Amino acid sequence: MRETVPRVVIVGGGFGGLAAARALKNTPANLILVDRTNHHLFQPLLYQVATSVLSPGQIGSPIRGIVGKQRNTTVILGEVTGVDKDRQCVSVNSADRTDVPIPYDFLILATGVTHSYFGRDEFEKFAPGLKSLADAVAIRNKILQAFEQAEAEEDPTRHRDLLTFVLVGAGPTGVEMAGAIAVLIRNTLKAEFRRITPGSARIVLLDMAPRVLGPFSEELSLAAKERLESLGVEVRLGHGVDQIDADGVVVAGERILSKTVIWTAGVAPSPAGKWLNVGTDRPGRVRIQPDLSVPGHPEIFVVGDTASLDQDGKPLPGVAQVAMQQGRYAGKLIGRRVTGKSAPGPFRYFDKGNMAVVGKGFAVLQIGKVHLSGFIAWLAWAAVHLQFLAQASLRVSVFVQWVWTYLTGQRGSRLIVNHYGAEQSKPVIEAAPVGMTPSSK
Ligand SMILES: Cc1cc2nc3c(=O)[nH]c(=O)nc-3n(C[C@H](O)[C@H](O)[C@H](O)COP(=O)(O)OP(=O)(O)OC[C@H]3O[C@@H](n4cnc5c(N)ncnc54)[C@H](O)[C@@H]3O)c2cc1C
Repeated sequence: MRETVPRVVIVGGGFGGLAAARALKNTPANLILVDRTNHHLFQPLLYQVATSVLSPGQIGSPIRGIVGKQRNTTVILGEVTGVDKDRQCVSVNSADRTDVPIPYDFLILATGVTHSYFGRDEFEKFAPGLKSLADAVAIRNKILQAFEQAEAEEDPTRHRDLLTFVLVGAGPTGVEMAGAIAVLIRNTLKAEFRRITPGSARIVLLDMAPRVLGPFSEELSLAAKERLESLGVEVRLGHGVDQIDADGVVVAGERILSKTVIWTAGVAPSPAGKWLNVGTDRPGRVRIQPDLSVPGHPEIFVVGDTASLDQDGKPLPGVAQVAMQQGRYAGKLIGRRVTGKSAPGPFRYFDKGNMAVVGKGFAVLQIGKVHLSGFIAWLAWAAVHLQFLAQASLRVSVFVQWVWTYLTGQRGSRLIVNHYGAEQSKPVIEAAPVGMTPSSK
């Protein structure tokens, strides 16, 4: 039976898709929100799961729980595999069915990005990236397992490569991870082992760029580098990685032996551009118009990391704020069209600034002309990140955990979770600690 109100299909329950769904809350339309996972993920804190500060349940919320009270919204767990622009439907694979068509009147694609190994996909096997909760738990397993293996190892000459951690990519994720691993091993683990000295572990942060934290000012990037070095992190810049294999990495002709290499470098957009068969930029992000629609298709919008839009001659960055503001704009625009109101002016991104944490109680912050580093910046970072967690229960749980970890050095989740006999790369995602589980409505 034909629906009496328009149908809006949103693909992706990340920052962009969720903002769009919320903006359409009171619009007379049927919303179908499709995601291949059942949860919205707060990616900026993934590194804290990978380094045992938080547990997975503290940064992921069930999408159904978040929009459950929104009467016009239906959530579908499924993977979109294509878009038929002429028939106006998306194809969805779910648990037991493939290519189920879901028709739309309006479509918002907010499918984000995945890892990119810059054409060296063979690196992936040895250097996992950090994008999902499963990735974060796999990396946590790898880091903690390295200490366990070294403690059990009778031959002390093998300790060195087990206790060397290499991060490839010194953008915000690499810097935050390196700082967090340093704090984990120098504070939390330091007194718990008998045969090895966790504090002697080596952390190496590599990047081909001349400085860490490229998007920040030179002065802040220097402050971050100095802070990392004071935590014992070796920062090696100006050379790309030539090789990554089971024995470690080769950089500038030198082999660094390591059993734990983590990829914190590139990302590639989702295949949205291929589904739509429209113009993309060089990395493959869909080129969109100032109203975020796809050229020639005023009913299709692409937002967030998988979209490409210039503002003042520069491409907008792939950050959560851009995705949220674009999602909100696309939702509002559709709402106005559905209710017969005039279209809003073109989208304009309001930059609220950049922040990155470097170890305990230290962050760098850049908001317009305000450039700060140190404890005050860290407090601002903590306040902003708490505010943007999807549910109140998570805000309380993460705040309590941070205070506890800050005061005691104890972590939220230091479990190595594998199925017996299964590969380490297939982790089981455990629940949040008792009393901290987010409510799923
Ligand atoms: C480790 C890490 C740290 C970060 N730190 C920061 C930070 O400190 N500050 C900041 O501003 N930004 C940060 N970012 C970037 C920020 O997370 C992204 O810019 C933001 O998530 C983009 O939002 P999005 O809606 O475009 O995509 P996402 O939030 O990635 O959401 C995409 C959604 O689409 C779903 N999806 C994808 N493909 C399909 C499909 N085929 N079918 C169905 N569903 C699909 C996914 O499951 C996901 O839920 C970080 C990212 C990472 C990975």
